[in-house]
Amino acid sequence: MSNELYDVAIIGGGPAGSSSAYYCAKMGLKTILFEKKAYPRDKPCGGALSHRTLSLLGEKAKQSINCSIDNITIYSPSLKHFINRGNKGYFVIREQFDEAMARDAQEQGVSIFDGEAVLEIKHDSNNDTYTIVTEKRIISANYVILATGVQNNKLIRSLGIRSRWPEGYLAICVNSETEIEQKLLTDLGIKETSLQIFFGVVPKGYGWYFIKKGYINIGIGATWIDIKEDGPKNVYERFVEQLKEMNLIPSDIKLAKAKSYTLVFKKPVKKSVFHKLLLVGDAAGFVSPVTGEGLYYCISGGKFAAEAIYNNKQYGKALKAYQKKWIKDFGKDLSKTGLFLQNFLYKTLRRMELIVNLAIKDDKLADLVGKMIMGILDYGKFLRKVIFRLPVTIIKTLKK
Ligand SMILES: Cc1cc2nc3c(=O)[nH]c(=O)nc-3n(C[C@H](O)[C@H](O)[C@H](O)COP(=O)(O)OP(=O)(O)OC[C@H]3O[C@@H](n4cnc5c(N)ncnc54)[C@H](O)[C@@H]3O)c2cc1C
Repeated sequence: MSNELYDVAIIGGGPAGSSSAYYCAKMGLKTILFEKKAYPRDKPCGGALSHRTLSLLGEKAKQSINCSIDNITIYSPSLKHFINRGNKGYFVIREQFDEAMARDAQEQGVSIFDGEAVLEIKHDSNNDTYTIVTEKRIISANYVILATGVQNNKLIRSLGIRSRWPEGYLAICVNSETEIEQKLLTDLGIKETSLQIFFGVVPKGYGWYFIKKGYINIGIGATWIDIKEDGPKNVYERFVEQLKEMNLIPSDIKLAKAKSYTLVFKKPVKKSVFHKLLLVGDAAGFVSPVTGEGLYYCISGGKFAAEAIYNNKQYGKALKAYQKKWIKDFGKDLSKTGLFLQNFLYKTLRRMELIVNLAIKDDKLADLVGKMIMGILDYGKFLRKVIFRLPVTIIKTLKK
């Protein structure tokens, strides 16, 4: 057992942790990362990556991208749909992407210990450092970044950060990712990679069908309260049957086992800085309440955390700059306009039907939706542009 001192210890090696580690090391901070599972490790996810995320990634993560997205297709509850092309976005396979992100961090000089859970974090007030305990070692660090994901495990509880998420914060997802021979899809007339959203599959949330290169990803996500009676797995199975009936997946396909997982579907937490310990990614609730996108927010949040630590160590600037930065960059957008859009869009099935129907009639509106999904427009800009567009959309709808 050694007790080496690091500048930063990062707990959790998903995209938030690896991004934090990558940027810490890039700025010359002596960094260590612990991930409790051994790479390659999987995490239930659609794997849609918005274009803006690309510039934040290291080379290996970029190279691990599965494909770009040819089209976005949105279905209404009555299965009317529109297709949008031309807005850039990508698909990743999380097992590959997350390992590549960790290797990018390692290449920058981060010491990575995977298959090694952190059991305890203690603050030593004598020298203002943290002691990090795993089964195999004890190390010390001046700063800690907690990137442990959405689960409120023992560590989060023992640090007094929270014992549970507030009521109504979480959605439940059921998700599978299956390797598929390309020919099986071309036999069904499917030639493009596609991000498909199905409204009406669940009351507040949606079903998704992502067609990647050599993989299909199917899932449903909804607030627990709305889905508990039906049972999330039953809703997922019904959705799979629907896709078969629509000839979007082969009727005799054997899908990979579906897994249930929670998703923050509300807004980021109020407090992300606890003395010299910072929360990033799902642990801080950095997820869109409209689409469930988390990858961009956790990867950019990791960069902001690293910058704040560097500026604190080097120039004595307040660590609270981290919180200010993410609130300004995306936090306000998620918790204000994002939540407004969530409440507006998912209010009733009739509303979802209406919105898709308007976009069917007006390509420009459909394009704005595509830009919002791909993160080209944040929610504030999207809403403003939609409000300006709406009179034209209505005229177009009345004419057709
Ligand atoms: C079904 C589903 C579909 C989604 N689809 C999309 C999508 O298409 N696009 C998108 O952008 N977002 C999507 N999201 C959200 C996205 O998956 C998350 O926002 C993202 O994974 C958050 O990354 P993270 O690093 O914060 O957490 P995670 O990826 O959960 O990583 C946390 C890591 O911490 C480790 N850990 C926990 N405790 C310890 C410990 N004590 N010691 C060491 N390690 C520990 C865990 O093993 C884990 O590997 C989806 C989420 C779900 C549930």
